[in-house]
Parts: sequence; C-alpha cells; structure tokens
Amino acid sequence: MAEVLVLVDHANGTVRKTTSELLTIARRLGEPSAVFVGDGFDAAKETLAKYGAEKVYRVESADVTDYLVAPQAELLAQLVEKTSAAAVLIPSNSAGKEIAARLAIKTDSGLITDAVDVQAGEGGGVSTTQSVFAGSYSVKSVVTKGTPIITVKPNSATPEEAAGAAADEVFEPTISEAAKGAKVTESKPKEATGRPELTEAAIVVSGGRGTGGDFSPVETFADSLGAAVGASRAAVDAGWYPHTSQVGQTGKQVSPQLYVACGISGAIQHRAGMQTSKTIIAINKDEEAPIFELVDFGVVGDLFTVLPQATEAVNAAKG
Ligand code: FAD
Repeated sequence: MAEVLVLVDHANGTVRKTTSELLTIARRLGEPSAVFVGDGFDAAKETLAKYGAEKVYRVESADVTDYLVAPQAELLAQLVEKTSAAAVLIPSNSAGKEIAARLAIKTDSGLITDAVDVQAGEGGGVSTTQSVFAGSYSVKSVVTKGTPIITVKPNSATPEEAAGAAADEVFEPTISEAAKGAKVTESKPKEATGRPELTEAAIVVSGGRGTGGDFSPVETFADSLGAAVGASRAAVDAGWYPHTSQVGQTGKQVSPQLYVACGISGAIQHRAGMQTSKTIIAINKDEEAPIFELVDFGVVGDLFTVLPQATEAVNAAKG
C-alpha cells in the first residue's frame, strides 16, 4: 500500500487533535506515515501509534527547526520523492497552507486547501470536499496532476484508533540557502489561560456584540464547564477579544459537543464556523435573532442575568 504523508501538528511533542484526524483520513487512502518536525518525539510516539501511523519520519535538523516554514516544504518534497507518496495531508492552519502551497509548486502537483472531507476516489485517486460561501455550497474536487497535496480543516473527521507501529526513522533533508531566508529569533508560548484550545474543546462558550465588551460572565460560565471561550467577529473587531478566538468564516471552525452563543445574532459567517456543533444553545435578548433558527435550546434573555444564574447552577450541580 502506498504511503500517505501526514505533517504532524504538535507543541513540544503534545500532538494536536488535528493530527489524529489526519491519520484517520490517511488510512482511507493508504498507509499513514507521520512527518514529525522538531523536539518531543518520545512524548508524541504513543499518540501517533494509537491513531495508526505505521512509520514516523523524524526531522530534527536545525536547518529546518531554526527557520520559518519554507524548509518544511523542501523536506516534504524530498519525502514525496523518496516514498512515492499517494498523498500529503497537512493541517489547514496558516503555516500549513503556506507549506502546502510551496510543496505543490516544488512537486508540480495539484493543491486543495481547506478540505472538510477526504475520501479515496474512484480509480485510486483522492476525492475531497470543500465547504464554500459560508457553507452554502459544497465543492467536490480531485487532484489531476502529481501528488495530491491537501490541507484539511480541523474537525473534518472523528479520530479513530488503530494500532500502528510508529516505526521511526531519522530523516536528514537537504535544505537550500533560499529556504533559509527567514530565521526564528524567539519563540515563546502565549500566556496560558488554563482553558482548552478552541478547536479541540468539547464545550465552547462564545460572546458577541451583546457582551458590550464585558466578557467576564462568558469566561466565568466557560470556566464552570471547563470550556474554551470563543468570540464573534464583531467582538474581535471591537478589540474586546483576540482574533485567535474568533469563530466563523474568517476565524476558526469549531465542532464541539456543546456550543453556547451569548449575545451573538447568528450571521451566516458566524454559523460557518460553528453550525456543525453537536448541541447548540443561544442566549439572546431578541427572540427574533437568526441564531434561534439553528439552536437546540434557546434562552430569550439578557446574558448578564442568564449567565450568572447558569454558572451558579453548574457549580451547584458539581457540588
Ligand atoms: P450582532 O450581529 O450585532 O449581534 C449582537 C446580538 O446580541 C444581537 O442579536 C442582540 O440581540 C444580542 N444582544 C445584545 N445585548 C444583549 C444582551 N445583554 N444579552 C443577550 N443578547 C444581547 N462574523 C463572525 O462571527 N465570524 C466570522 O468569521 C466572520 N467573518 C466574516 C467575513 C466576511 C467576509 C463578512 C462580510 C462578515 C464576517 N463576519 C463574521 C461578520 C458577521 O457578518 C456579523 O457581522 C457578526 O457575526 C456579528 O457579530 P455579533 O453576532 O456578535 O453581533
């Protein structure tokens, strides 16, 4: 079976959920081989094996790790050639999309970004689905040239366990001087909030313009549930919450078990980032707000009254 390369998304060996999703997808197409760049492989190995990686190419060369993303495209191009890979799957984040674009040029291959589904196509190809125009159209595509290079959005597959050998091999790429044009001079983790990562959280509580800039009841309620905090673009544009927390078409796509929208009207661009959540609750003063069209439970009320009561009830239930 042909190898399918999966670029691992991790922080010092803590593998992000997107990687288990990509390994799950890779098994539909061939034999998953993870590509692990940087330190922390020992911590990552168990997770990579658990989701079916048969091989892991470890890249520890400072020629890659000391620079921004260009060397990663070169090393992946060399691995594509070495393995005759059936496809390359890359997380759809900003770094991933840059790597994928550079890789497609280097390998003279077709590129599909932001796929929400990837399946084995008829006749051995790879068939992908993209969701466009804020989710109102679904586009199916196939790569017709070279090795399919595909970036996949988070939450596009449910990670499924399948024991893999995760046999590791150190891979020493040859990196050109041109790819070393931008060096990392400092890298420090952002201040820990103690909350889960937005795209990985089982529960997300989001605030919108209705908060008037005061996110404290949203955060307190989120913390009572162990949830991540999201925000609408209106709240982000107003400078009330960071862009990294924006949910929607031009923000992050989330698909938690529970999504609670507080003071958010439910514009189509917001829905594009959260409408696949399993259960949706909205709190809004306006009973005509469009968000109520897609909720499982709706509360018509002022979030500054409803959220403290809900927080109290959750804390009481926890004892
Ligand atoms: P509003 O639409 O102003 O809604 C605020 C809601 O709060 C109202 O329904 C109101 O009834 C309610 N409210 C007010 N006070 C209270 C209170 N005290 N208690 C309870 N409810 C209250 N938006 C995104 O969110 N994400 C995106 O990624 C995104 N991308 C976009 C891309 C493009 C190209 C464009 C054109 C727009 C995009 N938008 C995006 C913006 C989107 O169209 C909306 O403008 C935005 O989602 C509105 O945010 P909101 O719901 O917080 O604000």
